[in-house]
Amino acid sequence: MKEKKLLMIPGPVESDPAVMQALGAPTTSHTAPDFITSFGNCLRMMRQVWECPDGQPFIMAGSGTLAMDMAGANLVEPGDKALVVSTGYFGDRYADLLRRYGAEVTVLKAEPGETVEPHEIEEILETTDFKLLTVTHVDTSTAVRVDPRPIGELGIKYGVITILDGVCSVAGEELYQAEWGIDVVLTASQKALGVPPGLALLVVSPKAMEVWENRKTPPGNFYCDWKHWLPIMKAYEEGNPSYFGTPAVNLVAALEVSLKMILEEGLDERVMRHKTLASEFRRRIKALGLKMIPVEDSISANTLSAIYYPEGIDSGSFLAMVNQAGVIVAPGLLPDLKTSYFRVGHMGQVNASDMENVVSAIEKSMGL
Ligand SMILES: *Cc1c(COP(=O)(O)O)cnc(C)c1O
Repeated sequence: MKEKKLLMIPGPVESDPAVMQALGAPTTSHTAPDFITSFGNCLRMMRQVWECPDGQPFIMAGSGTLAMDMAGANLVEPGDKALVVSTGYFGDRYADLLRRYGAEVTVLKAEPGETVEPHEIEEILETTDFKLLTVTHVDTSTAVRVDPRPIGELGIKYGVITILDGVCSVAGEELYQAEWGIDVVLTASQKALGVPPGLALLVVSPKAMEVWENRKTPPGNFYCDWKHWLPIMKAYEEGNPSYFGTPAVNLVAALEVSLKMILEEGLDERVMRHKTLASEFRRRIKALGLKMIPVEDSISANTLSAIYYPEGIDSGSFLAMVNQAGVIVAPGLLPDLKTSYFRVGHMGQVNASDMENVVSAIEKSMGL
């Protein structure tokens, strides 16, 4: 058997054995009573993890991009104006996605490693009547974290729907969706939620659901249309069988276990664990003389780090050496800088000994 390597990429991440056990249980019917209960529990626990008691959760078979698509498809009508705050690859992806549904998109783009200041966003909101605004909580291409709080406030002040791409943040970074006034917070199973890939997850505010209800035209996407999925989510939560498209039965069982573990750990404690591990990791990496993409610690993510390759070392052979030392890390993702940095994911069930293993694999690869 192949030796097991430590998976330290920004998704998919290692899952707890209890989560894997639930995933491996015999597949049941999507209308079996036990499954209906699990699905309902997941929806209720999502409201807790997202801190959004009056939000409408959705669980779909698909990846994080499907969650982005679902929000875009249901909230954009042709000709709507959208402001995309981009701190990297996934912000740019959101701009492309919204254009596909006919939005007129304005992109406010940060330099790689930098964030966008709330006053820059406000200056744009003052000039144009936008229907919606998207922002990436942690852009996985740069490891930059944006503070969503002032953005939620701006959304309320200017009557703009706010969508937070939390694929690399939910359950690893501080989040108070309702209190912060964010309309949609979306994620995927394989990042800080610590479940294998395959689920797209969203929580939608009552205000955004109302905007969707008042659409003049149906969404330009059949699968994603909330008209199909809202009754399913309601039925599962009420304990009734229902069908539109087959849910990922085994993954929902795994999600239930993971959400329980997250709530048992405590949201504050979990965020603190991520934060402590991340800042200690940055300290160690900087002590090795390596530089990071985010320009400041205060905007560096808890969930991953983006690190420039050591000088004089070929990027491909560096990654191969880290792998040889037993750890899988990820290459760069920003098109312009791809070959000059690598990424380490540290989210989910990650602990101090995992981080120690990463540091030592990097040291070895640097010949230290
Ligand atoms: C991973 C990621 C996505 C895309 O998710 P997929 O599951 O790969 O489709 C989108 N946004 C962010 C911030 C991500 O980290």
